[in-house]
Amino acid sequence: MATSVKLNTGAEMPIVGLGTWKSPPGKVAEAVKAAIAAGYRHIDGAFVYQNETEVGEGIQAMINDGVVKRAELFVVSKLWCTFHDKSLVKCACLKTLSDLKLDYLDLYLVHWPMGFKAGSELFPLDSEGLTISDDTDFLDTWEAMEELVDAGLVKAIGISNFNREQIEAILNKPGLKYKPANNQIECHPYLTQEKLISYCQSKDITVTAYSPLGSPDRPWAKPEDPSLLDDPHIRTVAEKHKKTTAQVLIRFHIQRNVIAIPKSVTPQRIQENFQVFDFELNDEEIKTILGFNRNFRVCPMHWGVKHRDYPFNAEY
Ligand code: NDP
Repeated sequence: MATSVKLNTGAEMPIVGLGTWKSPPGKVAEAVKAAIAAGYRHIDGAFVYQNETEVGEGIQAMINDGVVKRAELFVVSKLWCTFHDKSLVKCACLKTLSDLKLDYLDLYLVHWPMGFKAGSELFPLDSEGLTISDDTDFLDTWEAMEELVDAGLVKAIGISNFNREQIEAILNKPGLKYKPANNQIECHPYLTQEKLISYCQSKDITVTAYSPLGSPDRPWAKPEDPSLLDDPHIRTVAEKHKKTTAQVLIRFHIQRNVIAIPKSVTPQRIQENFQVFDFELNDEEIKTILGFNRNFRVCPMHWGVKHRDYPFNAEY
């Protein structure tokens, strides 16, 4: 079983990474250290998670202690929606690099196709509680992302939460210099994303699954929402393999050549989530798990539903 996925740049992206959304500043440096000690070489972050300084402290400590070299790590960050204007993209990237204490990123993603009004608020909302758009076009934002590659600030660029039509728009952009290397999308057994994954993979765009465990700590979770980690059907598969439900949920992605980025700040879980290379789900089990799809999104970003670039009104 390969432990990495090849990008269209030629680089290898480790197939399991540590997620850091909602990881509190006081805990995330230790989580990053625990992950690197457990063998993770891929860390997924974003400016909007407001913890990149501490993520950087964790990375730096492990480099300084000689546990890992920078070149062995694969560090991902994301351009937030309020920085889509071409004139803001480089500044946003430099801020992330300085917080992370790094001089390059392995992958920088456009976090959402939607541009929001620039300014100090990360979620500028109108009186109805809906996000205020800017007048940027994500094709222009993409050009500024390409310039980051040429400036040596990022090794690869990609997208996140883009639907098929939006990806096609980038691929068909006149003068396109670099294709997206990766699309990071929500994916788990309740949102299996078969069409979008097969479209991306057919275009040589790798896919990362976010919220692979169903994001039980998302701030808007309701008690009646389905829980993947407690799903009795997933549990049955896990028991058969003497594994945990989390391990089955992660293994489900990597067998589809999809990168998974489970988040945890609990050292024992961080280790558990990496112990996924010593068992295999058979074709029938994968098929059964795919059958659990119910198009249930844990990150619908409903404040953006009226934005012209809201990605989730399309079928995929
Ligand atoms: P996950 O699906 O990774 O779930 C995280 C939750 O699961 C936490 O509450 C964590 O608890 C718990 N958990 C982790 N491992 C285990 C385990 N082995 N057993 C039981 N519970 C466990 O949710 P996320 O939404 O955080 O998604 C993962 C990452 O994807 C994010 O952190 C972020 O990096 C990225 N992401 C990207 C998005 C985008 O728009 N591009 C959107 C959403 C996420 P605890 O930490 O307390 O251990």
